[in-house]
Amino acid sequence: DKDTAQQIFRVVSAVCNSLMTAEEQLNDLDRACGDGDCGSTLAKGAKAILSALGSADTPGLPCQTPAVLLQEMATIVERSMGGASGGLYSLFLTAGAQSVMTSVTPASWTAAMKAGVASIIRYGGADPGDRTMLDPLHAATEVLKALQEETADSMPTLQKAVEAAESSAQRTATMAARAGRASYVSTDRLTRPDPGAQAVAIWMRAIYSSLEK
Ligand code: ADP
Ligand code: MG
Ligand code: MG
Repeated sequence: DKDTAQQIFRVVSAVCNSLMTAEEQLNDLDRACGDGDCGSTLAKGAKAILSALGSADTPGLPCQTPAVLLQEMATIVERSMGGASGGLYSLFLTAGAQSVMTSVTPASWTAAMKAGVASIIRYGGADPGDRTMLDPLHAATEVLKALQEETADSMPTLQKAVEAAESSAQRTATMAARAGRASYVSTDRLTRPDPGAQAVAIWMRAIYSSLEK
């Protein structure tokens, strides 16, 4: 319905804006363990989605059909981003699109997260614990599984999921890297959070804040 579409529009805008704001912070983290472009790569995707998104009254993307929306976002991300993040987010969104189908219940978003994480693991070859974006994604998904019970309260559960993602992203600072460019950097130089993991914590917090209003 229209309310759901408006809400989804707000969430997608908030996610994109949060990533654009974090561009330099994420580039800085990527300079410490990679090639310094993680923030710019994500900002590129965010900008492309925002410009396709249009306005709340006349959205340019189909916000009323989550499956189609996620698939369109996957295509935009694939075309605009590049880098490891581009490919991995495209996989994440495509798997989410296939899993969320037509329903927009909290349980179906949890299923989409699960499918997205599974797809990154399957095609990216890393696992949770390898110091990547997978760490906060996996931590949040574990908390969101509670939403598959009828009785669960969405917002408190989402809040806990965001907190789990944030502490997981922080914990990557003390982890050894087993995937991506960071796996070629000596462990004693890896003292700050993984940029891809920090980015997940940032956009998840943005989702929560935009729904809280
Ligand atoms: P690059 O510049 O190396 O192509 P980006 O800067 O776009 O990549 O993204 C880097 C982030 O991608 C890392 O911080 C990490 O979180 C994530 N990453 C890299 N490889 C993988 C992987 N195989 N699985 C999951 N996440 C990964
Ligand atoms: Mg990079
Ligand atoms: Mg790069």
